[in-house]
This record gives sequence, structure tokens and C-alpha cells, in this order.
Amino acid sequence: MSKISFLGLGAMGSRMASNLLKAGHSVTVWNRTPDTATALVSAGATLAATPREAATSADFVIAMLRDNEASREVWLSIDSGALAGMKTGAVAIESSTLTPSWTRELGGLAAERGVKFLEAPVVGSRPQAEAAKLIYYIGGDESTLKLAEPVLKALGESIHFVGPVGSGALVKLATNALLGVQVTALSELIGLLRSAGADVAAAIKAISSTAAWSPAASNLSASMLTGNFAPQFPIELIEKDFGYAVDTASSPAAVPTIAAARGVFQRAIESGLGEKNMTSVVLQFIEWPS
Ligand code: NAP
Repeated sequence: MSKISFLGLGAMGSRMASNLLKAGHSVTVWNRTPDTATALVSAGATLAATPREAATSADFVIAMLRDNEASREVWLSIDSGALAGMKTGAVAIESSTLTPSWTRELGGLAAERGVKFLEAPVVGSRPQAEAAKLIYYIGGDESTLKLAEPVLKALGESIHFVGPVGSGALVKLATNALLGVQVTALSELIGLLRSAGADVAAAIKAISSTAAWSPAASNLSASMLTGNFAPQFPIELIEKDFGYAVDTASSPAAVPTIAAARGVFQRAIESGLGEKNMTSVVLQFIEWPS
């Protein structure tokens, strides 16, 4: 069993830290808002006052934070950043969804300090985090992955090595783009079918029997048709990822579909839906309840 520090106890991180405790690891946690750690501390975690304090004696430090800015602050803050506190040879694992350029910069800074680094973004939402069924995309080097594998196996059901640092973020952004364009396309189609007089449930059932359907489309359309928008993957997070995908491309013109879908998510945020599930973008195209 390892000494693991977990930084960031939001919707995903709190569930992941809980699974590390259940697997028997010695877990230290830190969150910007410390109250969030109460249940984990009751379950046996130690609460650190800063990321640096959390990192000092850890073999592995895992971060699960909102975005590039949060990641930069938590790893590199001059007063309290985790990286400067880590032991030589310990492993820093960045699991947040970030840009490839930032994970490459962070990986380079870790190497300068003698800290091993993996980027390990995940696919799967709150239920998969809770059930330790996340899918990992690993960027880094394979010898570091070998060290981290027993830890990651307590959190995920499959681990894909995708290349050097930067590749994990890239594959993650591509995955979310593929998911998100389905969310916006399905939303528009439900609006189109309804306004043109179709029986939407029957239409979706028929389309779902064809090769044009995808596994993701079943859950997405069910959420849109039942009006269940409780947050699993909130609009503000997928919009962030679409922004990162557009920034990573040479220009918005190189990714016109992704850029247009981002606009749909941005309009949903402007109308106050940012914290709702991504499927609530359908409310731009239908009235609910109808
Ligand atoms: P979340 O619930 O919004 O949690 C965000 C975490 O980041 C919280 O711990 C928050 O701290 C912290 N944070 C935000 N800004 C910070 C800052 N400036 N300094 C320090 N800490 C900061 O998000 P989540 O759903 O757990 O997602 C975490 C990451 O996983 C994101 O990159 C997201 O894109 C990715 N992801 C999410 C899902 C999903 O379905 N939700 C799935 C796969 C990947 P406070 O508690 O103090 O606000």
C-alpha cells in the first residue's frame, strides 16, 4: 500500500479519494474549500493545510482540479504549491482535463525537480468515479506508469497508454469533443423533430436501431426526453473542454463543428444552465416540460 496525497475534492476527486481509502492506501487530502474533506477525514484520510504539506511525504500525488489555472496554482504556487514539496523519485499524477501545452509544461517542471510525472485524464463521470470504473488515458513514460498502475487500478477499470506527456490531454479533449458534438446534435434534432410534428420518442427509438446511433446517444437522449438534468457532467466543464480543443487547434476554422458546438454550450451558460448537466442544452431547442 502507498502513501498517496489527493489534491482537489470536487465531484470527481472526492469519489476517487474515497476509493483509494477503500483500497487500503494511506491517503492525505487537500481541497481549496476544506469543509469538503469532512467525510473523507471521518473515513480515515488526513487533511493537509496546503498542497505542499500534503505532498511532502507522499509516494504519489494525484490532482483532480477544475482547469489549467487551478492546476498551475495547486502544483506551482510559490508559497504552497505541491511540486516543490515532493520527494525526489515520487510520482506526480495530473488527472484533471487540461490542455496538452500545460501538461507538457508541468511535466517539464516536474522532471527538472527529479519528480516523475504522468498525465492521467479520465473518461467517465460521477457514477464511474464512484464505482472505480474510470477509463484512463496516460501520457508520460511507461516505466512511470508501471509504478503508478497499482494505484490507478483502485480508481479505474482500464488504462490506455497513449504516448508522451501531452498525448493524454489531447486524446481526452478529442473524446469530449466527440461526446459534446453528439449532445448538441441530438438536442437540435429533438427540437427539429418536435417542431416538425414527429412523435419524438418513436423517432428516437427508430433511429437508435440503426448504425448511425452510438452507445452514448442512448443515455444522452434519455436524459433530454425525460428532462433529468441533474449534473453528471455540467455544461460549464464541457464548455471549458471545448475551449481547450479550439485553442489546441491551429484556428477555429480548423475545427468548425467543435467551435459551433462550443457556441451552443456558451449560450446555455449565458442562460443560467452552467451547473446543470450538459444534456440540458436541449432546452435551447424545446420547451420543457412540453
Ligand atoms: P468540480 O466538482 O467543479 O471540482 C473542481 C475542483 O477544483 C474542486 O476541488 C475545486 O475546489 C477545485 N478548484 C477549482 N478552482 C481552483 C483553484 N483556483 N485553486 C484550487 N482549487 C480549485 O469538478 P469535477 O467534476 O470534479 O471535475 C474535475 C476535473 O475532472 C475537471 O478538469 C473536469 O473537466 C474533469 N472531468 C470531469 C468529469 C465529470 O463528469 N464531472 C468527468 C471526467 C473528467 P473547491 O471545492 O474549493 O471549489
